Order: sequence, then structure tokens, then C-alpha cells
Amino acid sequence: MARARSVAIIGGGIGGLTVANALKQIGMSVSLYERAPYFIPTVGAAFGLQPNGQISLAHIGFKDQIEKIVNPIHKWQVINENCEVVAKTDELREFGKRFGYFMGGALRAELVDILKEPLEKSGILYYSHNMTDIKQDKDGVTISFDNEKQQKTVRVDMVIGADGIRSTVVKQIFPQTAPPIYIKKNIFYGMIDNIDEQTSINPIVREKNTITQNFDHGEFLTYPAGDKGQCMWAVLYSADTPPSTNDDAEWTKMNNQHELNQCLAKFRQSHPVHECAAATDKQRLLHFGLYYRQHRNDGWHRNRICLLGDSCHATLPYVGQGANMAIEDAISLATCLEKNNFEMEPAFQEYYKKRFNRTKRVVNISRYMGLFYHSENPIIRSIKLPVISWLINSGMMLKSLEKEMYGNCPVPIEQKNIVK
Ligand SMILES: Cc1cc2nc3c(=O)[nH]c(=O)nc-3n(C[C@H](O)[C@H](O)[C@H](O)COP(=O)(O)OP(=O)(O)OC[C@H]3O[C@@H](n4cnc5c(N)ncnc54)[C@H](O)[C@@H]3O)c2cc1C
Repeated sequence: MARARSVAIIGGGIGGLTVANALKQIGMSVSLYERAPYFIPTVGAAFGLQPNGQISLAHIGFKDQIEKIVNPIHKWQVINENCEVVAKTDELREFGKRFGYFMGGALRAELVDILKEPLEKSGILYYSHNMTDIKQDKDGVTISFDNEKQQKTVRVDMVIGADGIRSTVVKQIFPQTAPPIYIKKNIFYGMIDNIDEQTSINPIVREKNTITQNFDHGEFLTYPAGDKGQCMWAVLYSADTPPSTNDDAEWTKMNNQHELNQCLAKFRQSHPVHECAAATDKQRLLHFGLYYRQHRNDGWHRNRICLLGDSCHATLPYVGQGANMAIEDAISLATCLEKNNFEMEPAFQEYYKKRFNRTKRVVNISRYMGLFYHSENPIIRSIKLPVISWLINSGMMLKSLEKEMYGNCPVPIEQKNIVK
């Protein structure tokens, strides 16, 4: 059976960086190729680095560094259009304490810095390498890269496609794959520095360690991210077309003031989205369309090439788990390779078996939550807030979070009475 010692990872997103570290630690000869000249595309954006992602990163030795960049979330509240709290739970703090990992917000750039450092030090992270072609035979894989300066080929035993939702690796090994699906929703996504100083923003939204949501028009969301008082806010709204005509521009700087004005006009003047937008530097406001991929159910590998993260199961952002799933994939794939003595076929099969149901559930839940939040059906609109309030106030939401984030995390943790 074919055994792998050298591996090339295509794509230096959260998934690619995590798997590069994990495989390096178990003794593989790793090289990571990122098409961007440096990690600018994600600078300025935040994301929910959830307990399952943190536990998985701690498993490969990043616990202390991660703790420093995660702003823990203790409280969850839902507000109405007048910024009055209509549902809340303070239980997230206890919940986090029980397991030693809190739900939290982090800056993407800070996580990337942590993950790239060991790779840069070892000289195995190659920027400006755009993978264009990949061919495999019975002895190995030949990868071609193209950029302004050079054309280059690399020969390795194994390849991991971690190149995101518009994966070139997928196009090469599964040419029949349908393109990502645009759900006719866009998002404005802003970062506010030093939220404490932004006294024009309603204090309810500025509450520390708190995630705030509103569902009057799609979804409005804020949470703290980073350790210097930064706060992210986003509004997810219905649209006919995505903001950019360039398919590759996933993180597009805001350049459509007209669409922003139209989006904001739907909200009452008392809604905090206006205050958040006014307090955000234009350079820190992103605008993009929401896409997902049909979950791959025909395997995530072909011979020596295997996929992870958004390349095989890109999810919508409604449950904030896409990057966390990519992190989990990375740890799971490394574990399967080591357990199978680096024999690719059994390792890839085991990895797919372990990851399929979990990722499919996340993709589906996120999709259905999106449909529910944005529904214009009058009956659904009328029950939306009572249902969400009941889920939060009754503790049902916490129970399901506990199950997904701790109980089903692929890395077992010490826990008391965990919901399985
Ligand atoms: C609005 C929004 C909010 C989100 N919020 C959250 C959240 O709160 N929590 C969460 O967990 N997830 C969130 N996500 C999802 C998360 O961003 C993705 O799921 C995650 O980034 C996927 O990681 P990845 O490594 O698979 O791919 P990516 O992060 O997309 O990385 C792919 C990398 O591959 C590189 N690449 C692409 N093609 C090539 C090529 N041909 N050659 C070389 N390199 C290439 C790209 O430049 C990129 O660096 C959100 C997504 C969106 C859209």
C-alpha cells in the first residue's frame, strides 16, 4: 500500500495552516503553498473561534497562544429593533468554565500569525504560489505553480487541497463538481476598534463579553473579538447579486455605498446597526456574498490527493463553524494518517468516515437557520422571535451547543456530565 512521507498543502487558510502544523509534528516532510503574496486577504476580519476549534488547536500545542487571542463570550442576548433585550442567557460563562474553553471571538490575522510562525521558521511556507495543475501517478503527485515571476513544479507523495470554497484542487480531481451556490444574501462585515470609546453606540451592544443578535431584517450580530477592545458587527441581508464580479474576491473591501445605504434604510433609526456603521472606518468594512457547497458524499480523496475545510464542505456562516470545522478536519486527518502508519488509502477513508456526518450536520443546520432568519413568510416572521427566545431562555440552545462543541469534538476533553 502507498505510504506518504512528503506532503504538499495547497492553500494557507486556517485549515491549511493547521494541518501543516499537525503533520509536521508527526514527522512528515511538509510544504505549504499559498497563492497570496502575504496574508492580507483576511486582515481586519474576526470570527468565532469556538471551543471545539480551540480544543483542537490545544491538542497540537497552541493552547497558551490561543487563550491570549480569544475574547471569551459570557452572555448571549437577542434585541428588538429598539435595542431592548428580549431574550438572554448569562450561562455561557459557567458553561465555558466547566470545560475550560469559552465560546469566543478572535481576529483572523492573529490566529494566522500564531499558526504560520512555526512554518515560516522552518522555511516550509511558500507565498505567491498559485497552484494551476496537479497530476498523480502510482508513485507520487506532480504539482505546477504559476505566478508573475516563475513557473515551478514540485513532486511529493501526497497532496492536501485546503484551497477553500473555489478550490482548484477539487476542479482537478472531481471535474464534475458544481460551483458554489450563491444564496442571494450578502453581508456587510465591520470591525470597530476600542468599542468602549464609541459612546455613540448603545451601551447594550457595547456590553463586554457579550454576543448580541437581532432578526428583524435577516440577521444583525455583534461580538467582541481580539484582546484590545475590538468588536465585530455584521448585517446579513437579502440581495439579487453578490457584491463582486470577481469570483476569487471572497473578502471584498466595501465599495458600494449605495447598497450599504439601501441595506441600512430597512432598519429603524433606533436600531444599533446605524451607530455601528457610523463608527466603522471604511477600511474596516467588508462586503461579500454568501455561498455554500453541496456536501461531497462521494469521498474527499482520489488516490494520493485529499481535501479538507471549505474545499469539501463549505458552510454558510449562520452557526460560525466553517473555520472550526476546517481546524477539526486538520487534526482528524493527521490522527488518521499517524494511526494508519501513513498509508494513504485507509487513512483517507477513515478520515472521511469520521468527518462526514459531523460536517454535514453543521452545513445543514447553518443553511436552515439562514432560511429561518431571512424568511419573509408572515407566519414564520411572527414566530421567529418567540421561537428563538424560547430556545435561549429554556436552555435548549445551550444544550445543543454543548453537544456540538464539546460532546462531538473529535479531540476528547476532560468534562463533567457532558451531553453526548
Ligand atoms: C461572512 C463569513 C463569516 C464567517 N464567520 C465564521 C465564524 O465566525 N467562525 C467560523 O468558524 N467560520 C466562519 N466562517 C467560515 C470560514 O471563513 C471558512 O469556513 C474557513 O475560512 C475555511 O477555511 P479553509 O482553510 O478551508 O479555506 P480558506 O480560509 O478559504 O483558505 C483557502 C486558502 O487557499 C488559498 N488558495 C486558493 N486557491 C489556491 C491555489 N490555486 N493555489 C494556492 N493557494 C490557493 C487562498 O488564498 C486561501 O488562503 C465565515 C465565513 C464567512 C463568509
